[in-house]
Amino acid sequence: MSINIGVIGTGRIGTDHIRRLTDRITAASVIAVSDIDAQRASDVARSVPQASPYRDAHDLIASDAVNAVVVTSSAPTHESYVLAAIEAGKPVFCEKPLADTADGCLRIVEAEAARGQRLVQVGFMRRYDPQHRALKAALDEGTIGTPLLAHCAHRNPRVPAERYTSDMSITGAAIHEIDSTRWLFDEEVATVQVLKPRRSPRAAEHLQDPQVVLLETHSGIHVDVEVFVNCGYGYDIRCEVVGEDGTVSLADHPNVVLVHDHARQTTVTPDWATRFGTAYDIELHSWVESVASAVASGPSAWDGYAAATIAEACITSLQTGQRTPVLTKDMPELYR
Ligand code: NAP
Repeated sequence: MSINIGVIGTGRIGTDHIRRLTDRITAASVIAVSDIDAQRASDVARSVPQASPYRDAHDLIASDAVNAVVVTSSAPTHESYVLAAIEAGKPVFCEKPLADTADGCLRIVEAEAARGQRLVQVGFMRRYDPQHRALKAALDEGTIGTPLLAHCAHRNPRVPAERYTSDMSITGAAIHEIDSTRWLFDEEVATVQVLKPRRSPRAAEHLQDPQVVLLETHSGIHVDVEVFVNCGYGYDIRCEVVGEDGTVSLADHPNVVLVHDHARQTTVTPDWATRFGTAYDIELHSWVESVASAVASGPSAWDGYAAATIAEACITSLQTGQRTPVLTKDMPELYR
């Protein structure tokens, strides 16, 4: 049986996910789309066989024709749509962040726990990226011994000057390294600190860019993340884990290495859609399989809540400059 999917939010990643669900995932069909911009939703619906536009996303969630929901609208809208999907008993894939506050994420966790059934998957796609998976496999096999620390970088070529804030470097960008840290080391972050290096002249006046986010896990692993969202040259994601017996890192992500005229050249991916295209494909394929089998897998609402709590501690530290503890509620039985 094909899973009939409704997609809310037809912007950049929404249309990207609609395309992969339509062209590459045979077990699913996008049959409904909605956006605050009704014209955009209608235009997208016309480009997808069998898809109908919905003016109100809550009607899409309630529709008997829709088996499962994908939420790719702007972050502040996620909470109400995810809560409505839980209320309707429908599986929901929500792009990160799960909600725009940790309290909002907690309300989702509580709603799901009260229902006693995992319905939510959060879009932390690095867990599906072949390179990140290989790195985790090396850690899990113990190849480099006990992990001690990690160096990461999250560089975007540029961000919109007016509407991008310093907090968004954490909630929109570093949130991926926050989730990767919990996932790679299988433990929680205990404290955080955010440092403010000299600002790039490419950054808007109000934006602290770059930032250095320091995460310390309960066992004492230190992770430093350079978040630089106006680096100019490309989209560059790095991670090197240092263990007691060696190191393991993400390799460069080129298609080819060109050796020519006394030089060795490679390319840098231009954007997140290119760098993580394969990861998004695997992620959504895996989500559709989990919907079909009714066995939830992948990053849970709890993972969304935990990441948001760490991100909020980072924002506090960005303001105070102090090392800040991460305080989370007790994990409900559903996620153990
Ligand atoms: P975007 O291009 O701005 O798309 C968001 C769409 O949602 C826009 O069409 C927006 O319309 C629409 N929208 C706003 N309010 C809405 C509402 N109440 N109901 C329905 N639709 C509404 O943003 P994006 O880059 O695609 O990002 C969307 C989400 O995906 C964000 O949470 C972002 O963090 C996440 N994301 C994740 C990744 C990843 O690597 N996992 C990558 C990119 C984005 P207007 O433009 O008219 O407001």
